[in-house]
Amino acid sequence: MAGCFLVAMVVGWTRVAAQIDDYVYDFLLRINPPEPIPTHAVTVAIDDASFAAFGGIRRERHILTEALERIATAHPKAVAIDIILHDRQDAAEDEPLARALAKIDRLVLATDLTRGGWEDPEPAFMQPGATLAHVYADENPWDGVTRSVRLEWRAYRTRRWALGFQAYLASIGATPLETLKDLQVGNEVIPARYADMRPLRILYAPDSIPSISVVELVKNPEVAKQLKDKVVFLGVTSSSFTRDRIHTPFGGDPIPGLEAHAQTFETLERGRFLVDAENLTVPLMCAVIALIAGLVFAFLAGWPSYVAGAALLGAVHIAPFWLFRHGIVFPYTGPLATAWLACFGAAAYQSLVVRRQLRRSEVERARYRQAIHFVTHEMRSPLTAIQGSSELMGRYNLNEEKRKQIAGMINSESKRLARMIQTFLDVERLADGQMELKREPIAIPHLVQACLERARPLAERKNIVMTSVGVLEGEVLGDRELMEYAVYNLLTNAVKYSAADTEITISTRPDAGFLRLSIKDQGMGMDAHELKQIFTRFYRTKRAEASGEAGTGIGLSIVDQIVTSHGGRMEVSSEPGKGSCFTMVVPAFAVAAQGRRAVR
Ligand code: ADP
Repeated sequence: MAGCFLVAMVVGWTRVAAQIDDYVYDFLLRINPPEPIPTHAVTVAIDDASFAAFGGIRRERHILTEALERIATAHPKAVAIDIILHDRQDAAEDEPLARALAKIDRLVLATDLTRGGWEDPEPAFMQPGATLAHVYADENPWDGVTRSVRLEWRAYRTRRWALGFQAYLASIGATPLETLKDLQVGNEVIPARYADMRPLRILYAPDSIPSISVVELVKNPEVAKQLKDKVVFLGVTSSSFTRDRIHTPFGGDPIPGLEAHAQTFETLERGRFLVDAENLTVPLMCAVIALIAGLVFAFLAGWPSYVAGAALLGAVHIAPFWLFRHGIVFPYTGPLATAWLACFGAAAYQSLVVRRQLRRSEVERARYRQAIHFVTHEMRSPLTAIQGSSELMGRYNLNEEKRKQIAGMINSESKRLARMIQTFLDVERLADGQMELKREPIAIPHLVQACLERARPLAERKNIVMTSVGVLEGEVLGDRELMEYAVYNLLTNAVKYSAADTEITISTRPDAGFLRLSIKDQGMGMDAHELKQIFTRFYRTKRAEASGEAGTGIGLSIVDQIVTSHGGRMEVSSEPGKGSCFTMVVPAFAVAAQGRRAVR
């Protein structure tokens, strides 16, 4: 889950993800446009018609003067001029302009940033009380859409508020209280952080800003009345003379830059803002999503886990919509990538790894049950003998000789039982590393003889002959009980997995300090693939299963364990249908004893 989370975070930080987030934002804004309010902004546009009527771009200042004269009569709340007036031009036009500007209360003038600094207006135009503002839009360089405006622009140790914001401040005669997180104007808190020059998302309200052409204003002084108590944005909108056009999230034709300033102003007027989710909230949310996905698939299985996973995905898809309606802009791609990756990863993990573990442990459990069944079965025969014999003794008057015989049997059977239990316990403890091996010299010929005696009744039932080849020899140092168990097991396996009327041979051979004890049969044998697994707990070959011989598949694993704990190893050669040869290679007594001395 941590991996999925990290990958999703990286995905979420890419340029593509940011672009997708922006498109989702545009879509959300389109389906949730800001509610209409009575607008306070009006644009007075120097448009194509104005230029045509007054003689073109060279008469710009004259047109401006004409417009201002009319606007002044209406006493608007504030006038913001989106034209840079930093230079002197024709005095015949500049002087009337300066006079017209003087008639405007709460005037906001635009300034531009050049290499050398701010291009402030010519002092003649700077009326007392006039304020300055920057006119930059915060355009996304990738798709050209302007979604926000930087309310503050800092350069050359001077800062300028944005034109829309400055007009807003001028209209209510306020100065903002600045904090790192926001700007406070009167009762209004504007969520524009100091970092990144106080960006604020513009809540465009399409077609809401009334616009008046300068031609109209000059022709019909009545029109000026519409400007009373309004905030006027005056500037050039003629597409022939200015390229100042803004693409909005609503798509369609770009709007004049002048209108964008008015929209900024309206956004501030409305007083309801869209706030971007805080930087840390997003990774935190993603981590929570990954965690939930992990928990869902860790604690649920089957269709409930898929339903819960789908619910999580659904919630992550819907959350940004819901948050947007509550004024919070939340990125879409990061959380979505997290949710998909985490759900997919967790589901895959569950079905691949966990299921496999489950299946394996189920198989083991079944085999374990079988083993217990076998063990109890094995123990039942001495128990039955003991029970039967004791009943005989109690029920009948037996003569002394019979009694002794039966008592002897009870004794030997109970000892066998005790040995069996002891062997199983020892092997378990050996496996846990709890037990220290007994170390006593064991004469191999004796040990083999004892095992042969015990296995003979089994062999005889199948008419199998068990013989030793040559003279048995050798002595090893170790635990007699366990070694006997191992040899006996190999012998009974040889009998079990051989057909009737075959032969089993036992031989010993010293080999460079080791003793090799081989038990060779003419039975069903095994192929190379099976050979690799026979020492694995609970493994049985298909052939062995098919033969109908009872077994648990633990005998050989115990043999292997016993032999290795004696410092030896098992070697097996076998061929299907031709028989097998199991060889126990253990350190010979002399070597083992020397080893002990050396250690001492
Ligand atoms: P069990 O005999 O109880 O099944 P073991 O651990 O003793 O368990 O043996 C594991 C498997 O190895 C057997 O099931 C059988 O498939 C195979 N095997 C062991 N000994 C022989 C043998 N002498 N000949 C053929 N297959 C054998």
